[in-house]
Amino acid sequence: MTQEQTIKRIAIFGSTGSIGTQALEVIAANPDKFSADVLTAQSNDELLVEQALKFNPNVVVIGDEKKYTKVKEALKATDVKVFCGEKALEEVAAMDCYDMMLAAIVGYAGLKPTLKAIENGKAIGLANKETLVVAGDIVMRKAVENKVPIIPVDSEHSAIFQCLVGETRNRIEKIILTASGGPFIGRKPNYLVNVKREHALQHPNWSMGAKITIDSATLMNKGLEMIEAKWLFNLKPEQIQVVIHPQSIIHSMVQFEDGSIKAQMGLPDMKLPIQYAMAFPRRIKNDFPRYDFKKVSTLSFEEPDTKTFRNLALAIDALHKGGNLPCIMNAANEIAVFAFLRNRINFLDMTNVIEKTMESIPFIAQPSLEEYFESDGEARNFAADIIKL
Ligand code: NAD
Ligand code: MG
Repeated sequence: MTQEQTIKRIAIFGSTGSIGTQALEVIAANPDKFSADVLTAQSNDELLVEQALKFNPNVVVIGDEKKYTKVKEALKATDVKVFCGEKALEEVAAMDCYDMMLAAIVGYAGLKPTLKAIENGKAIGLANKETLVVAGDIVMRKAVENKVPIIPVDSEHSAIFQCLVGETRNRIEKIILTASGGPFIGRKPNYLVNVKREHALQHPNWSMGAKITIDSATLMNKGLEMIEAKWLFNLKPEQIQVVIHPQSIIHSMVQFEDGSIKAQMGLPDMKLPIQYAMAFPRRIKNDFPRYDFKKVSTLSFEEPDTKTFRNLALAIDALHKGGNLPCIMNAANEIAVFAFLRNRINFLDMTNVIEKTMESIPFIAQPSLEEYFESDGEARNFAADIIKL
């Protein structure tokens, strides 16, 4: 086989989610380029089985141990290996049956398997932004030590990554992360306090998992992305700007030292950054709908309202202070979003929970990995106590 014909073996961690299922669509459309060799799901055993029967991976992992027998039974006529439980994610990440991990688990749960894949020398297509928010310094250091490329899947970071191709000798003055603004753009606290879960789950431009959809509505998503960008592109906090761009056509921009700005554009469709990360450095021809200037002829920009959407202000604070503060913020945010999705707290309470947790858990300037794990646990317990979960 020539290099050209080699099939890249993809391990999709979180294959049943929004990113995971779209990654499988890309693989299905390009069987000469990719195969799905590892699939993992937390609880959706039925979809996991369906995917395994279609893609015939080497291994599947079902997180929920109660579902192991069901998955094993459903795949008994195949030679797919079935594992279960949290530890199995790390064990499978340490295997050799794949070339690239697509890190598409949501939240903190994605960190440990991704670290294992890096230690195992596997390339990473990174959708799971929380991995870098929690322990970006350690993750990036390990990637350098193991000569592992981390290729962003998050659309903004993919845009910046694409703008930087061919620019290795040139300094970035700043990056401009675009944000759609979510469903509540222009709204004020007196409106937000009454927002219901169903309303917050309706994103104007993107169809995504529940957690990131709520993060987009609170603008926490953009805060997480600022921290993600800091680590991916080795930037100072002052070099990262956020601009609201409701049409989601410009996915982000880089401004160089000569003032020139490069933007990456297209219709909002996560399959494009997923495909780009999997195929990098090549581009693959596809028939995704194209952006037409005549149909979306106005691109507009505005400042984010951090006084109303205070989660973004908290994240900017965490970005500047660093240490374990982003990890604490992330943990509190995961608990707060979980509680909001279960109608336990209101939309604005989420910010109060995060703020109180950030003020209360001891700050560590240069945490070890163990200390990140501990800070995460302490912050979760503290936030859950406030909410009385
Ligand atoms: P999702 O909720 O749709 O899917 C999450 C996946 O992770 C599922 O396969 C689920 O089974 C698995 N999972 C959930 N909890 C788990 C746990 N505790 N242990 C192991 N596996 C678990 O989420 P998504 O929208 O696909 O997002 C995945 C990640 O990608 C998130 O970090 C998100 O921020 C990021 N991201 C998503 C989008 C998007 O368009 N959906 C865009 C950019 C970045
Ligand atoms: Mg994004």
